[in-house]
Amino acid sequence: MIKYIIFDLDGTLYESPEVYQKFAEAAYHTYAQVKQVPEETARRRLEERREELKRQKGFAVPYTLALISYGIDIETWHRMNAEFFNPADFLKPDEALRSSLLELKKKLRLAVLTNNNDVQTRRILEAIGLTGIFDHVFTFNSFHLLKPDPAILKNVLAVMKARPEECLMVGDRYEVDLIPARNLGMQTSEVKGPAGVVEIGRRFESSLYPDIKNQ
Ligand SMILES: [Mg+2]
Repeated sequence: MIKYIIFDLDGTLYESPEVYQKFAEAAYHTYAQVKQVPEETARRRLEERREELKRQKGFAVPYTLALISYGIDIETWHRMNAEFFNPADFLKPDEALRSSLLELKKKLRLAVLTNNNDVQTRRILEAIGLTGIFDHVFTFNSFHLLKPDPAILKNVLAVMKARPEECLMVGDRYEVDLIPARNLGMQTSEVKGPAGVVEIGRRFESSLYPDIKNQ
């Protein structure tokens, strides 16, 4: 019986090539500032490291892990990327998504679980019109852990007082968002952006997730 839906944020509740590009530029800027090198050098080193890490892990890794691998701490990165740009400059309210989530909220508890930081997450949720929708918003700052570390989901379950089988995890990255959830016994749904989330709302409405009727 699904009682909770946990959504990834970036690439799931919004899609924006401009915002993804700005996160990349923010990472180059952070590396360049901390290491005192030109931004082009920073870009090359970070992209090379991301390629290496991708080969090792089997999935595309965020800039966060590339920066950490160079000894740049995550608090510095988060502070500098929040100073570097505001995602709200590139986003607008998503009315279809908002109304779909409001319908789901009548029956289910909704949460966000993102590797992003508190400041950028708050800006993004406000810009896409989703402030106040979620019962819980878990960011990197909540547990100081990054997906796909399975310890995050255990913390999330403890805070929500939920059991894994009551949860549906929705995200755009299979290895990062969905495999750890599935391993814990959650249901999962892979989406590529907010249209996929709206489709999940439709499936609940039309009882294609039939257990929702049993609540
Ligand atoms: Mg994502």
